[in-house]
Amino acid sequence: MFKILLVSNFEGGFQPMTVASAITPLKEAGFDVSVLDTYVDGILEEKFAEPDMVAISIPLFDALFAGIEIANRVRAINPKAHITFFGQYATINAYRLAGKYGNSCVTGEWEVPLVALARHLSGDEQLMLPGLVTGEMVEKGEQIHPYMAREKFHLPTRDMLPPLYKYPQVQVDKLVGSKQIVGTTEIARGCHHKCLYCSVFAAYDGKVFLVDEDLVVEDVRNLVNGGMTHLTFIDADFFNAKHHGLKVLRRLHEEFPNLTYDFTTRVDHILENKETLTEMAGLNVSFITSALEFPTQEVLDAVAKHTSLEDIEEAVAFLLSTGIKLNPTFIMFNPWIQLEDMVAFREFVEKNGLDEIIDPIQYETRLHLYKGSPLLNTPSVQALELTDNEFHVDWKHPDPRVDELYFASLTPQEEGVFKRCCLKC
Ligand code: SF4
Repeated sequence: MFKILLVSNFEGGFQPMTVASAITPLKEAGFDVSVLDTYVDGILEEKFAEPDMVAISIPLFDALFAGIEIANRVRAINPKAHITFFGQYATINAYRLAGKYGNSCVTGEWEVPLVALARHLSGDEQLMLPGLVTGEMVEKGEQIHPYMAREKFHLPTRDMLPPLYKYPQVQVDKLVGSKQIVGTTEIARGCHHKCLYCSVFAAYDGKVFLVDEDLVVEDVRNLVNGGMTHLTFIDADFFNAKHHGLKVLRRLHEEFPNLTYDFTTRVDHILENKETLTEMAGLNVSFITSALEFPTQEVLDAVAKHTSLEDIEEAVAFLLSTGIKLNPTFIMFNPWIQLEDMVAFREFVEKNGLDEIIDPIQYETRLHLYKGSPLLNTPSVQALELTDNEFHVDWKHPDPRVDELYFASLTPQEEGVFKRCCLKC
């Protein structure tokens, strides 16, 4: 039987949803599927020898270089295997990954293209290969649209992945107030918004696909059976599908009254949905992650956040009144701050009572410019000293003291420590 190995290396320190969602359709199509999450199990090279196809998940920038390293090891051990990449960050780097680091790369939603590729490689030459960039296409300069024709989602396969307790989440424990077994699911993929720095926007261009309510509930049942005590919705923005999300939460709370939740949403959505959030507090939503970027209007405007400092402070105060904690994220080091703004930042944190809550890693985040980022077309970024790299663009702050402060603030890089501002980039 045609053998497929699905590999994950990092998905924010959570059980990898990207791989869980790919297992099911491949198994339903009759393939022999095995899985490796190197985040938990390390690079088990013995798993590379036999597969006919190895699909490496690249959901985030932080998974990119380890994914390439895995591809190199597979190639050395099993030169005949077809190596492909998939996931949100693979989508925005498909033409840089296909050919050079693997045979192909999926661009867009991955389940249908992965099944089509496996069918094609196992002998069905007649099939179209939607959403698949090959090395040959890169050589010829051929471009395709990402595959965005979603018809349905499949129930993620959880029991082939490492158990949930292998994915500890210190920040969740801190915010919930006790040790948790954390699982993740999603009620939708994509995002309606178009924040200029964001890789979700780059991959989905404002599109959102809803996951069927029954499917979400069934997935959560499986996660609870796997020991989950706290659920993180990894949606780019939970309020992309507000009514859908509220219905899901009501059903889950009825079935699992002790389960707690967190999700991510924007400041403007917090302010627009006060009544809904008050109900959600009663449904055990314990905290909300929100990208505050940097508390100056200049930064908020530069990334087209469409919010104000006053809005942020109102949202912080409102959440406090509901009992839902705020887990703020920042783009701490960015080209639009001045050194003096660091003092204003400290005052903002103290004034809003955020000091105890902020994940320390947030003090080390730096604006990431992916290749093709719309920010690269803005005058304020074009005025910077930029260095072109294969997968991203480095920038220097006009005031060298800001960059000195950034490098001085960095703690030694520990494996698996996530230094991005949200779970999706
Ligand atoms: S930053 Fe958040 S709200 Fe903005 S496009 Fe990205 S996921 Fe959507």
